[in-house]
Amino acid sequence: MSSGNYKLETKLIHAGVEPDPTTGAIMTPIYQTSTYVQAAPGDHKGYEYARTQNPTRDALQKSLAAIENGNFALCFGSGMAATDAVIKLLHPEDEVIVSNDLYGGTYRIMTKVFANYGIKFHFIDMSDVANINQYLTSKTKMIWIETPTNPLLNVIDIAGCAEIAKANNLLLVCDNTFASPFLQTPLDHGADIVLHSATKYLGGHSDVVHGALIMNDSELEQRLRFIQNSCGAVPGPHDCWLVLRGIKTLHVRMERHCQNGETIAKYLRNHPKVGKVLWVGFEDHPNHAIAKKQMRGFGGMISFTLKNDDLNEAMEVLKKTKLFSLAESLGGVESLIGHPATMTHASIPREDRIKNGLVDSLIRLSVGIEAVEDLIEDLAQAIG
Ligand SMILES: *Cc1c(COP(=O)(O)O)cnc(C)c1O
Repeated sequence: MSSGNYKLETKLIHAGVEPDPTTGAIMTPIYQTSTYVQAAPGDHKGYEYARTQNPTRDALQKSLAAIENGNFALCFGSGMAATDAVIKLLHPEDEVIVSNDLYGGTYRIMTKVFANYGIKFHFIDMSDVANINQYLTSKTKMIWIETPTNPLLNVIDIAGCAEIAKANNLLLVCDNTFASPFLQTPLDHGADIVLHSATKYLGGHSDVVHGALIMNDSELEQRLRFIQNSCGAVPGPHDCWLVLRGIKTLHVRMERHCQNGETIAKYLRNHPKVGKVLWVGFEDHPNHAIAKKQMRGFGGMISFTLKNDDLNEAMEVLKKTKLFSLAESLGGVESLIGHPATMTHASIPREDRIKNGLVDSLIRLSVGIEAVEDLIEDLAQAIG
């Protein structure tokens, strides 16, 4: 199906997916093959070798492009492999301006891997995008944002960043993992590359690790496709199929994630032992106006602190929940609870994270799609 003018809910189910031409199978087959037979050298059906092309991956790439309102998508073996491919667009001495509250693995690949190749990363507060201007130099090539941010749920003005990027001839990369295309489509606000850990909401069932990039510009797509094929961090066809299947229910899952998220955020806010509750949907969230402008809902990611910021008390809460499973990751149908300071963000030095508000008692919830009454009862008994 061409993505045409269909609404998102229809594209999630149909875009990129055609009945199998040989059998009529309605589901895209898993083309579990490493190579394709040629009639004569160069005489083939568009497929030569499976690192370069695979029909299951193609279907998923078309689906992802359509649901992010982009022209092209490229899939990778993980979100980090997608991140790696984007940074490989750069050269030694290039500089990148990065939002300072971001996925720990992204911080790690930048500071521990690509810093060694002479690329310089500035991690800065982008709650006011004007801050970016201070860090621009003749060597700046890219702005990298995550919004909402992980785990502090800050919101960054995508259109505001895009304006600065365009004026200075920079690429704007937006990690859209937290929002998913159901809540936000950054290409519509001027981003050049959208990045996903499809491991999270797109896959949605905690059964696959996968990454993707979506873009509009064909020259940029060619450069990234060259990196995808040359460096080879491609996903297997079965993983592509799982993500393709997950995407078909993104809208119904996200609606429930949003409803449950709102109910739980409000419950926590009234809890006497809870300190701050960070959730994008609160009207007094510092960037709520921008959230309303660029997002279609506020999601099921919530972080909160305990009133006295006691690490041991936070550890007790993490041990006591029964429905909220203690685990890294997010975006699956089941509710998860995590402790960023010792889990996902352990690679960030304590001083740096506390300076940015990632305190010791901060607990992050990925609210699933179970009955919200059961989830609240679980939190009530765990927090005490
Ligand atoms: C999980 C995550 C990643 C990394 O993705 P993997 O699939 O785990 O490699 C990148 N960005 C964000 C926001 C994430 O949550």
